[in-house]
Amino acid sequence: MSDSTIELEVLTKIKDEATKNGCTEKEVMQGYIQKMNGEHQEEFQKTPPEERIVFVPQCLRESDCKAPLGEHGYVCQHCNPECQVHQISAAAKKLNYKGVYILPGGSMAQKIIDFSQPHAILGIACEKEALLGGLLLKKLGLVGRGILLFRDGCVNTLVKIADVLKVLGINLDRNTTKKL
Ligand code: SF4
Repeated sequence: MSDSTIELEVLTKIKDEATKNGCTEKEVMQGYIQKMNGEHQEEFQKTPPEERIVFVPQCLRESDCKAPLGEHGYVCQHCNPECQVHQISAAAKKLNYKGVYILPGGSMAQKIIDFSQPHAILGIACEKEALLGGLLLKKLGLVGRGILLFRDGCVNTLVKIADVLKVLGINLDRNTTKKL
């Protein structure tokens, strides 16, 4: 079965579950992501930062972002300290993460994984992208943690930075994380 067929099947299942339970598809997806996070928590904690990467969505950039699109996503120029992409990149760098990648779309994820060979991935995304990302990780046998955007959309999205910093620093040196 092709990846796109599996994705379609999962999204149809989500829709059916939402109808059956009288809730939104977003709520069903949130439940799945929460479950995945719980299942992967321990392994994520055990993974050193040098083997972790971070995926951030391109919509988290500032509207006047000048980051050029490269082979592995947008390349942040660190032009704005208020930009959440910059804040996440800076924190991950201090913690010695293997890399932070700004995804132009979910389809580039596999290419970056093949290139960077991480053991664990922290993905920041909307519900649908996080769910599809979770399917990819399952297929590849990788560890994943998802953090959902609290304002989603195609542009000007936002994530709770405190939540990101907390997960970034999970099980890492407390003195380092305090300074983030
Ligand atoms: S800090 Fe990076 S991602 Fe944010 S607007 Fe500047 S170049 Fe774009």
